[in-house]
Amino acid sequence: MPQASYADSHRLSIEQPEVFWAEQAQRIVWQQPFSRVLDFSQPPFARWFVDGTTNLCFNAVDRHLLQRPDQPALVYISTETGQETSYSYRQLHAEVNRCAAVLRAQGVGKGERVIIYMPMIAEAIFAMLACARLGAIHSVVFGGFASHSLASRIDDARPKVLFTADAGMRGGKAIHYKPLVDEALKLAQHPPQSVIIVDRGIDQNLQRVPGRDLDYATLREQHLQASVDVEWVESSHPSYILYTSGTTGKPKGVQRDTGGYAVALATSMQYIYGGQAGDCMFTTSDIGWVVGHSYIVYGPLLAGMTSIIYEGTPVRPDAAIWWKIVEQYQVRVMFSSPTAIRVLKKQDPACLMRHDVSSLKSLYLAGEPLDEPTARWISDALRVDVIDNYWQTETGWPILSAQPGIEPLPKKFGSPGKPVYGFNVKLLHEASGEPVADEEKGVLVIKPPLPPGCLSTVWGDDARFVKTYFSNFHQQVYSSFDWARRDADGYYFILGRADDVINVAGHRLGTREIEEALSSHAGVAEVAVVGVADELKGQVVAAFVVAKDAASVADATGRQALEKALMATVDQQLGAIARPAKIHFVALLPKTRSGKLLRRSIQALAEGRDPGDLTTLDDPGALEQVRQALLNPAG
Ligand code: AMP
Repeated sequence: MPQASYADSHRLSIEQPEVFWAEQAQRIVWQQPFSRVLDFSQPPFARWFVDGTTNLCFNAVDRHLLQRPDQPALVYISTETGQETSYSYRQLHAEVNRCAAVLRAQGVGKGERVIIYMPMIAEAIFAMLACARLGAIHSVVFGGFASHSLASRIDDARPKVLFTADAGMRGGKAIHYKPLVDEALKLAQHPPQSVIIVDRGIDQNLQRVPGRDLDYATLREQHLQASVDVEWVESSHPSYILYTSGTTGKPKGVQRDTGGYAVALATSMQYIYGGQAGDCMFTTSDIGWVVGHSYIVYGPLLAGMTSIIYEGTPVRPDAAIWWKIVEQYQVRVMFSSPTAIRVLKKQDPACLMRHDVSSLKSLYLAGEPLDEPTARWISDALRVDVIDNYWQTETGWPILSAQPGIEPLPKKFGSPGKPVYGFNVKLLHEASGEPVADEEKGVLVIKPPLPPGCLSTVWGDDARFVKTYFSNFHQQVYSSFDWARRDADGYYFILGRADDVINVAGHRLGTREIEEALSSHAGVAEVAVVGVADELKGQVVAAFVVAKDAASVADATGRQALEKALMATVDQQLGAIARPAKIHFVALLPKTRSGKLLRRSIQALAEGRDPGDLTTLDDPGALEQVRQALLNPAG
């Protein structure tokens, strides 16, 4: 594109999306060209690059074999095991072919699902790319989720194979995956026929179920010379499913296409992230989250960059570890989360001075609101551009962000900036659905068609896609469920979720899921879960529980015992990530006369704010209960 201003390119992308995206589509290799840029004949479903055939693995790996075969494609660093391994594009290609051959031998082919439940090791990425090569659909489940969460995803995706490891490591502690997998497969109605295990030698008691559980190293040996043909797929063919939480207890399978995603990511690498072939990118997320999919795996590889995959915490062996990696690998683009930076801020500031980070051009932060003190602190310390970007699992890439690759605009702290090309962003009044004025609070919505790379539907449930995202506001727009305001210069400020979703350290959790886990305990009659503001993690989970037997929580010992048991229930079902920071016992929960839980009032009280309009409250005594419980926590 000739040098255009931000405003011009954004306008073009909205007014003539076909023109804008046809040009961007040249960034990837199509085996067969598309006949139409966009088919929006069945709104809100959008199909991008119709009839074009392509392959994500080919574009991320094979395509670079001629130009950069010996350049590192992936660098795997584990500060947990001390392992550090670099894979050139040629080596990555070989490993992906071996993995694809292994999967194919298990019957995995085009359209078949594979669940990847893995720690942050290189084999997880080989498996993702191998699925893409075969036209199979991967669904990576975050390793921090426990058996119940894994089982519900298995039942929704119905995978042919589950790809896992014996264990992951975090903060020096092993997390054994295999017992969680075994438990999940017992719970699941549709378990996969085989489980492939990468045995890292961490779990000395690794149990294998004969006939079902297979050892990856052994299978790989059988396919060392494998060359697996790329499966060219139509642009709309699903590349993956990634489950995310919403307001119901059942996570949604965000379905991504292939061609649109490849084009969107390749474009973002230039316009947003400024990543050039040969540069090194270090994204500190996990492959279980959307940031990991887009900016550890596919984005940097599509751009011919070197991507770092890191297993460990930001503070081990000490808080200088990330900056040591930046220096050693000459990292140019880094991507992390505000919580991680707040964690570092609490550590010895000298850690930041110990390494030469002059290779770093920008630090991107996303996943949760970025507060000004944190942004200033890290940008002063590193002397780099800190770029806040706002997006969602659903969109796959940023909705609001600086776009230095188009035009560097002045930055405003506290704002992720202006709408990204392709996103027709509006702020609507929650009740009237009318656009709000500058500086007024509204719900952030996107006028469809959603640009390439965004979710094409909810896996197996088109109706849920329409109902969840497009049924507010006269069914005409995609709702982000985030509150925001826009200033007179067109900068947006995100003000928090408008639904019952909690954001803990940048990770999305559904209150309903946690409530269901807690309710499954025999001692619980009723429960309300809310997110409470937290200095470090953005929000933490707080639960308000009505015990079945009031006498059981009459004294501190009883309360502590039930609290412990409830924490363990959440750990076991959903994973420690969803564990409440605090459980409060009450005799009554505040509800409306029609029986709807007043979560927002509970949350306000827990944050020391005014509980708001209480005219619909059924029993005012319930609020007093919450107040008292907050004053006298379980212990
Ligand atoms: P997830 O799909 O898990 O990535 O969560 C997406 C949600 O995280 C968004 O809907 C926002 O509520 C929040 N979020 C993501 N990025 C930002 C950001 N830069 N500023 C404020 N909130 C954000």
